[in-house]
Amino acid sequence: MKGYAMLKIGSSGWIEKDRPACGPLDAICKPLALAVCTSDIHTLWEGAIGERHNMILGHEGCAEVVEVGSLVKDFKPGDRVLVPAITPDWNSLEAQSGYSMHSGGMLAGWKFSNFKDGVFGEFFHVNDADGNLAHLPKEINTVDACMLSDMVPTGFHGAELADVQFGDVVLVIGIGPVGLMSVAGSNLRGASRIIGVGTRKVCVEAARGYGATDFISYKDGPIADQVMEMTGGKGVDKVIIAGGGVETFSEAVKALKPGGKIGNVNYLGSGNMIDIPRAEWGVGMGHKLINGGLMPGGRLRMEKLGALVAAGKLDLSPLSTHVFDGFEHIEEALFLMRDKPAELIKPVVKLSD
Ligand code: NDP
Ligand code: ZN
Repeated sequence: MKGYAMLKIGSSGWIEKDRPACGPLDAICKPLALAVCTSDIHTLWEGAIGERHNMILGHEGCAEVVEVGSLVKDFKPGDRVLVPAITPDWNSLEAQSGYSMHSGGMLAGWKFSNFKDGVFGEFFHVNDADGNLAHLPKEINTVDACMLSDMVPTGFHGAELADVQFGDVVLVIGIGPVGLMSVAGSNLRGASRIIGVGTRKVCVEAARGYGATDFISYKDGPIADQVMEMTGGKGVDKVIIAGGGVETFSEAVKALKPGGKIGNVNYLGSGNMIDIPRAEWGVGMGHKLINGGLMPGGRLRMEKLGALVAAGKLDLSPLSTHVFDGFEHIEEALFLMRDKPAELIKPVVKLSD
């Protein structure tokens, strides 16, 4: 089969590989649509997960099942499915302790294009099919379905980690596709005011549509100073970090009220240490919680988030700004994501309706 792969750090291309084998609990799927993620860019061009040779890229897509193992109960060839980016081993001790995303080791629930070939192939392998796949609701088209792999569950996890509650004032640092879904998640959880941090016009417009009420540009000076000015010196109840670098933590702590919570879903690609400002952290006693996590993955989450979209409560159409027709356009979509033109949110490659 053909796949689009990371050949080594900084180099990518089409390769031929054997079709993956299906174990008793597994499924083999063929993609219906695929999306490129900022994480693919970190993996390929920044060596974020270390060196990989001839590893098929991608972890966002929806698919048709072509084969299932003898012990798979709820899926059969021909089923159309949502595929989560994170596919834990649900019988692991980490999953039993509530941390499925770390099944097998820290962050090891992330398997596609990390520990095995990803989804940018003619076929791909899904472990623990009953635990990880979800049936694709007929109301959701294949392009929108790709946003349910990672953007929705990760962005929403930011709102969960920050513990957004009714009436909260929430600061969302970064309003790329992940941050946009943190805005949407915070809005659904009942935030009264959502302050988005970002500059690209297309993202600002989408954020407004998802419920952001105010905007800050990180280019106009320190984020926390701007937040304090906007909130009459009070600060915010919750912060979600979905963009920027290690310096965002200091701004988040400064912008937060005592008793506030920070949820980070951003990938911190450089810098050895994170600075926590001592005085604004209440000299260690400010009850300002810092919480960061990889989204949990799995079927139940996919089904619930899919139901939200199918019910018309979450419109994913503003995210896919660039849609290509045909598998051969993967490379173009990947390079587009790397170059991030100002009008881009997500590039999607459609193989089927
Ligand atoms: P984008 O690059 O599309 O968006 C980043 C956002 O951060 C933009 O709004 C950008 O603003 C803003 N930003 C850039 N620099 C700063 C800064 N210095 N201070 C504040 N804001 C800044 O990224 P994605 O939305 O695709 O992904 C966001 C992050 O989430 C990435 O690091 C990605 O790797 C990570 N991620 C994590 C996952 C997880 O499971 N935890 C899964 C998927 C992604 P501007 O408008 O100016 O561009
Ligand atoms: Zn992703």
